[in-house]
Amino acid sequence: MAIRKVALLGNPVLRKAAALVPERDLLGKAIQSLIQEMLETMAEYDGRGLAAPQVHESKQITVLTLDSETSEKSGILCLINPVVEPLTKETSGYWEGCLSIPGMRGLVFRPKKVLVRALNEKAERVEFVAEGFAATVVQHECDHLLGKLYIDRMQDFSLLSFEREYVKYHALAPKSVE
Ligand code: ZN
Repeated sequence: MAIRKVALLGNPVLRKAAALVPERDLLGKAIQSLIQEMLETMAEYDGRGLAAPQVHESKQITVLTLDSETSEKSGILCLINPVVEPLTKETSGYWEGCLSIPGMRGLVFRPKKVLVRALNEKAERVEFVAEGFAATVVQHECDHLLGKLYIDRMQDFSLLSFEREYVKYHALAPKSVE
């Protein structure tokens, strides 16, 4: 196992739509070790989530940490070929960060409640509802699989900030996401 290098903003791998993982490949060694390496990389960088394109693999795989207060499924999850469906037009705003855009945060508004359908690392079908903070984490990670970054979802670039300035001027605003 190994900790992977994280692709940074500007790397074209972050801007490509990732390929679906064929179900027959999911339990194979290549995908299973990629998932393990993604989990190790997420832990090493203290990330809340990580998507395969961020480790230079254009595949629809994400690992993420969801809390039980805001998500029906919680803990460290692996979502493969996920589909995210907004369940409300209501939005919530969080200061998001991204391992591919180090040192920065931006305020992003996203649908407050989503239905998530995916396969897990055992090739089982999972389906759950995530709200608020967890809904944002899921949408941020799944956006990576579409070649989208949180900065693309920002409505107001005056709310893009370096970490230090975020702590100094904005940290009292809603909860942050990394
Ligand atoms: Zn990210």
